[in-house]
Amino acid sequence: MKRFQIEIREMRKWSKRVVFLFLCLSICLQIPSVSSSTSPFQENEGHKESSAAGTLKLEHEDAHIVHCSRERSRSAWKIIEEYLMPFVEKERYKVSSGCRLHSDNDLFRDQEQHKLHVDINEWRCGYCRKSFYEEKYLDKHFDNRHFDFLNVSHGRCLADLCGALHCDFVMDSAPRKTKCNPAAAARNKHLCESLADSCFPVSNGPVSVRLHEFFLRQFCDAHTCARGPKPFSKGRKKRTSILYISISILTLMLLPLFYFFIYLYQRGIKRGSQELKRILPSGRKKKPF
Ligand SMILES: [Zn+2]
Repeated sequence: MKRFQIEIREMRKWSKRVVFLFLCLSICLQIPSVSSSTSPFQENEGHKESSAAGTLKLEHEDAHIVHCSRERSRSAWKIIEEYLMPFVEKERYKVSSGCRLHSDNDLFRDQEQHKLHVDINEWRCGYCRKSFYEEKYLDKHFDNRHFDFLNVSHGRCLADLCGALHCDFVMDSAPRKTKCNPAAAARNKHLCESLADSCFPVSNGPVSVRLHEFFLRQFCDAHTCARGPKPFSKGRKKRTSILYISISILTLMLLPLFYFFIYLYQRGIKRGSQELKRILPSGRKKKPF
């Protein structure tokens, strides 16, 4: 009986070992099967990407979108944001989507809004949270990975308005001394005035009339080869961010505290040295005893 029990125990042990081995073997076999199941997916994804990129290229080749510069579009948007929108918002005027300066007519607007500038050397993609050292790499990532967010259906390129909006004036840190081209100046002025007409129609009431006039002074008057007014004669209004304000307030609050601690620290050092001086002579006096 006892022997039988021992045999049963042995059998159980062996069965456990066999089960364990079987489990190990099945896990080992599953790992490559998992990886092999993912690899076609990855391949598919890559394929999908390359084919989609191809169609985008074709689309770009067909339309003039391929010539739409992201950098110049960005510059144009910056000008609109700084030199136009604060004045438009002050008048509580709503620019219609038919106006080419409307955000809906910027091909890159959605992507640009998904840029997160976390740190000086950190730009993050708002769609997939990937990080990049420089903005240009994030731009490339957008081109390769998130082209589906491009507002291609509208086919609107804000960079096309750069002539009217003086993008070169803003982008060039050093002013170029090139001869003024009267034909180009006239063309830009015409584009500028057509923008004023479509975005702020005179028939839309007094507010629109005021903004129409403002737009002509701010952007269009400078399109001349004669010594006329400079662009953005009405100035700009930069919106101060909440973060900037809060950081300044915090710094102002912490600065006195910092100086107070330095004062206390120096006072502590002085006291310490005075006490040491007091202790040292008394110690020397005690020695002859
Ligand atoms: Zn991304």
